Amino acid sequence: MRIYKVGGAVRDRLLGKPVTDIDWVVVGATTEEMLAKGFRPVGADFPVFLHPKSGEEYALARTERKSGRGYGGFTFHASTEVTLEEDLIRRDLTINAMAEDDQQNLTDPYHGQRDLEARLLRHVSPAFAEDPLRVLRVARFAARYATLGFTVAPETLALMHQLSESGELEALTPERSWKEISRALMEDQPQVFVEVLRACGALKVLMPEVDALFGVPQPPAHHPEIDTGAHTLSVLQQAALHKQPLTVRWACLLHDLGKGLTPEDEWPRHIAHEFKGLKLIKAVNERFKVPKDCQELALLVAEYHTHGHRALELKPSTLLELLQSFDIYRRPQRFEEFIAACEMDARGRKGLEERSYPQADYLRGAATAARSVAVQPLLEKGLKGPELGEEIKRERLKALKAYKEATSV
Ligand code: ATP
Ligand code: MG
Repeated sequence: MRIYKVGGAVRDRLLGKPVTDIDWVVVGATTEEMLAKGFRPVGADFPVFLHPKSGEEYALARTERKSGRGYGGFTFHASTEVTLEEDLIRRDLTINAMAEDDQQNLTDPYHGQRDLEARLLRHVSPAFAEDPLRVLRVARFAARYATLGFTVAPETLALMHQLSESGELEALTPERSWKEISRALMEDQPQVFVEVLRACGALKVLMPEVDALFGVPQPPAHHPEIDTGAHTLSVLQQAALHKQPLTVRWACLLHDLGKGLTPEDEWPRHIAHEFKGLKLIKAVNERFKVPKDCQELALLVAEYHTHGHRALELKPSTLLELLQSFDIYRRPQRFEEFIAACEMDARGRKGLEERSYPQADYLRGAATAARSVAVQPLLEKGLKGPELGEEIKRERLKALKAYKEATSV
């Protein structure tokens, strides 16, 4: 048997990037031989194994044929006859279809190295169209390597366009889609992921709620960039620049969905968009079975981001309602993430990227003031149940009034 490094490890070494996980392909071996060497099989009818020591993935060279819709509709053929070139041709991009032996001899039948130098994301063969997930993967690689100058080859974008129109994207499982979406959002330039999906018509299929924001104007006084789609992309870009976690990035992407529902005769104003967006966000959250923490933050940020921007003008009672809605007493981290998303929203506007955001510290101070109310003395007074709750609220309100007075001088 012959063993080669493939895919990302080869690509990233040639790019001079750190290699994190290594995928291997094994040519000329049978399942029985692999098991005899102590490799552990990954799936029942999938010729992939884990190395007994390193835990890295070793796949038998295989060919694939599409036999139905979605990813389940694939038949694999792995045998000792399958060559390295045959295995590489089923891969998505030419830069991912190179292999390397232990002497660093490169096997590159589809000119991945040439495309690396040309900074092109290009599909290997027309079989690209057999797995719609590749549309998301290409957009994700575009987001990752945009900083290096990579773009999607025009013929690949055309193929992605066809796939988007074919109805195949709808056959993707929520799990597979979310894995790509969440990884793409954590890349250096997540806005490029959205741009590429939009450019090939996939955004309209996957997240029509986000697609609808393009072409929707906002008031130039607050939004010099005017377009709501452009604004959303800038907010996402800011979130990446400021190294925000996935929860914040997901909330940034969805915070203004309500603006897509504004009747045109109300443009450029968007009355109650904060609230109107919630049902759209719920739909997107459910579509991709998004993790709970991401779901929750996206809804809260959409509903309350305007409160965040107006923090310094809020009445103490409104401020208290905001803090209560976030349950800042038990969920301090979530409130921090809300503040971060508001700040990214404020900076994701043309020419305002460097602005200061005093609201952030003001909100933190308000949370500290509300939290400083001690419950023990109230318990000692013999209060309990709803009465206790009311008294705690009154005390917190007092604390917020004092905070507001103290900070406004
Ligand atoms: P990353 O750095 O994100 O891990 P990678 O290229 O290693 O990038 P993997 O998802 O680990 O990506 O997949 C390893 C290799 O398997 C890819 O480089 C590609 O050749 C191939 N591959 C993975 N998924 C697909 C797919 N859906 N269609 C075609 N080829 C794929
Ligand atoms: Mg990999």
